[in-house]
Amino acid sequence: MLPREIIPLPEHIYPSDPWRIIETGFSDKHIGRAETIFSLSNGYLGVRGTFEEGRPGLSPGTFVNGFHETWPIVHAEGAFGLAETGQTIVNVPDATILKLYIDDEPLYLPVARMQEYRRVLDMRDGTLRRDLLWSTPSGKHVRVRTRRFVSLEYRHLLAMSYEVTVTDQPAPLVISSQIANRQDADLGDEAVADSPADPRLAKDFGQRVLNAEVLGGEGGQFLIGYRTTNSGMTLGLGVDHVVETEAPHRTERSLEQDLGKLVVTVEAQPGVPVRITKYAVYQRSRSVPPKELVDRCRRTLDRAKDLGFEELLEQQRRQVDLFWARADIEVETEQDGIDVQQAVRWNLYQLMQASWRAEGSGIPAKGLTGQAYEGHYFWDAEVYVLPFLAYTQPRIARNLLRFRHSMLDQARHRARVLSQRGATFPWRTINGEEASAYYQAGTAQYHINADIAYAIRKYVDVRGDVEFLVEVGAEMLVETARLWEDLGFYGDEGLFHIHSVTGPDEYTTVVNDNAYTNLIARLNLNYAAGAVRRLHDELPAEYRALKHDVGLEDDEVERWERAARAMYVPFDPERGINPQDDTFLDRERWDIEATPLSEFPLLLHFHPLVIYRFQVIKQADVVLAMFLLGNEFTLEQKRRNFDYYDPLTTGDSSLSAAVQSIVAAEIGRDHKALEYFRYALMMDLADVAGNVSDGVHVASTGGAWMSLVFGFGGVRDFDGELTIDPRLPASWRRLVFPIRFQNRQIRVSLTHDEERYEVLEGKPIDLRIRGEQRHLVAGGPLVIPAGG
Ligand code: BGC
Repeated sequence: MLPREIIPLPEHIYPSDPWRIIETGFSDKHIGRAETIFSLSNGYLGVRGTFEEGRPGLSPGTFVNGFHETWPIVHAEGAFGLAETGQTIVNVPDATILKLYIDDEPLYLPVARMQEYRRVLDMRDGTLRRDLLWSTPSGKHVRVRTRRFVSLEYRHLLAMSYEVTVTDQPAPLVISSQIANRQDADLGDEAVADSPADPRLAKDFGQRVLNAEVLGGEGGQFLIGYRTTNSGMTLGLGVDHVVETEAPHRTERSLEQDLGKLVVTVEAQPGVPVRITKYAVYQRSRSVPPKELVDRCRRTLDRAKDLGFEELLEQQRRQVDLFWARADIEVETEQDGIDVQQAVRWNLYQLMQASWRAEGSGIPAKGLTGQAYEGHYFWDAEVYVLPFLAYTQPRIARNLLRFRHSMLDQARHRARVLSQRGATFPWRTINGEEASAYYQAGTAQYHINADIAYAIRKYVDVRGDVEFLVEVGAEMLVETARLWEDLGFYGDEGLFHIHSVTGPDEYTTVVNDNAYTNLIARLNLNYAAGAVRRLHDELPAEYRALKHDVGLEDDEVERWERAARAMYVPFDPERGINPQDDTFLDRERWDIEATPLSEFPLLLHFHPLVIYRFQVIKQADVVLAMFLLGNEFTLEQKRRNFDYYDPLTTGDSSLSAAVQSIVAAEIGRDHKALEYFRYALMMDLADVAGNVSDGVHVASTGGAWMSLVFGFGGVRDFDGELTIDPRLPASWRRLVFPIRFQNRQIRVSLTHDEERYEVLEGKPIDLRIRGEQRHLVAGGPLVIPAGG
């Protein structure tokens, strides 16, 4: 049990539907949550689910992946090597605003009388739509139809359509289309100012961030080029409008650096629609001058206008189809208060939104749905999102790892600062530099280096892409293996220890021999050694190139293997468990059940020193190791560890529930497996963590996929061998999921009557199902009846 509540959105406003999230009425109670849930993104550009009218809004936001401002981190007490420069994703100018006035009365949803209202996130066609019928204060009826999408085809593009029809009488109608720089307005800072003590929220800059160097365009076109004050990054923004109506109308424009406006005034006639199509294009760069970015924006705008909204929409749908063809998971089960199918699709959809066009950048912890966690990339992407990508969209997985590689030189440099060989990747970053100011729960998480190695192995094994090792993978493996060998040391008893590190559990910091870290470091060392040996034996020329590039020493690989063999893994024979670190079990146990719900997450209610004194866990640590490195534990060990750590785990991090679910499923704790799955699945839709308004918990959405495929589906790929050991929950009727493994498209369909395994595309494959060796060929499904 997590000390958490599942508070689903009320079904009378958000009815169940397999493919859509529908809001059937305006409710000011759920604005913050809805802004996150209705967010649109393509991995490059994201907009929160705010209303077109610009108000009411909790924290409107538009984000371009990687576009950030820097600021000096002020440490009350400095120390050598602490992170010096903060990085925060910028809330770029908002182009979604289209304010409507009829008879000078604004459409303002909290007070508007509406006969109809429906807002729909359509996960089938990739749009957010809203339809409403407004009875104005002067007694007129006005139909307002809105559609918007962030293009999956043209990653810089946001397209909107705003259509208004007065139904009964003529009326003066004004639509004020705006481009508002919220980052530099006081407006956008309310949410931040409200919770200064929450370290997860973004910083308030307290000074101007976006400086307009270009202000141009004419008619309905606006071209603005910005440069940030400190980071010097540049942003091009182009907005264009197509106004369509048969009714007489005129337009006026104005443009200042923080506000652009196109005001369209129409003598609206009954039944004659007024339609404004608005395109917004964002381009960011570290070096290209704003003027040039703006030119690029103009070209994309021209292309968008040539194609037109409907054609762009068609393309959007085709992209979404591509996604679902490889990713859709069907679940049939009792509703039990939540629509599992709808929630599953929403979680998967978030994974697409966070990654589809993220090429050249990472995946922030919140995707592009909020400014919390400052738009930083953590290990979340490698451990929680990459497995999903490797099994459904390996091309994107590859891009993500290539992006990590682009930070290798900075990681090498950082290792020198930390007095280490090899590379130390930053715990959190946008631009490759370490940005975690609180090193105890940040930089000390050296495990991120091995998490990256784990992700490389996952990708290479699942896609069968050995080429990737040659290209960039081996280089990262060598540098991370080097780090471990240098960071650890041999104790007098001859075992290899790693001291002063923080594991995934951030409630226990800077400890010796964190079990997770030692185990995943061992994987890193072994996998790096194996990869180098493989190149040596199979691709001598590539091996020589690598050796030269990284200055590989003759006995280095053997040294890694020796350290891996000698790696100390804490074990307590009395309890039969793996202590989380060498002093964890000596501490006092925190009684989670006796702690009031209002005191979670503990990090917001207790000084770190209080938390650190206790056996209390923020998120799966040993339990995570048992999932990622499941072939290194016996079932009995897994049970003992799980039973020991479960009552100590608060789940204060959203990265925990899914992993607890997977391990619970594996060891036969069926009830817990389902319970934790529900927490992960509903993390945002039911605001389990209590902060959904700050943005999507992307790692948890990846976790939900992992719970389904690795937990209930029982898929594993240790040593590149595919094994499937399904455990369909007793209360579920059906679970169907696709996986792509080494260029085969496989579908697994589970019911309680039979299991069906099919190769839909690709060569025959050998795999193990329920412990038995099987040979699957395309067109010849394997059907195993219940008990068979
Ligand atoms: C978790 C980290 C995670 C970060 C970003 C923190 O609360 O403890 O493991 O990387 O959030 O999601």
